[in-house]
Amino acid sequence: MSTVGKYFKENKKEVKESYSLNCCAYGCPLLGTISSAVDGKGKFYCRFHFGAKSSLFDKITAKIRQMGDVLDIFNMCLFPHQYFDGDQYRTYDEMADQAVKSSLEKLNLMKLYVENNIYQTSKKVSSYLNEFIVVKDNTLPEINPDILKTQWWNK
Ligand SMILES: [Zn+2]
Repeated sequence: MSTVGKYFKENKKEVKESYSLNCCAYGCPLLGTISSAVDGKGKFYCRFHFGAKSSLFDKITAKIRQMGDVLDIFNMCLFPHQYFDGDQYRTYDEMADQAVKSSLEKLNLMKLYVENNIYQTSKKVSSYLNEFIVVKDNTLPEINPDILKTQWWNK
């Protein structure tokens, strides 16, 4: 056995335990894809929880759960091979395009659909999700626009 193969066999258990695929925010159904740690051992969060105040985590999770159908549509756009079995007549993108179209129709969200362009559709679905899910922290003070006017770059 190669050194690398042996290493992975011996460390498999440890790797499994230290690496969870889910977002670390409690109850979040999404995959954890972003971490601020550079060694791969830090906590991974989804793009909605990453960088958010922990006091807002539950609100964000609730919104993500409300948007379950749209999140599924988004994932279908990006990873069609996880949703469909391939066949010889259509590509994965074509299958996803049809399924996404009828799902968006049912949700009355045809404004997000771009005909025969699953990539453009995914971008529209993504910005729709961002708009709905991102919870703003209203406890942060607003920047006084008058202060900005007095700064050197505005003189
Ligand atoms: Zn999350």
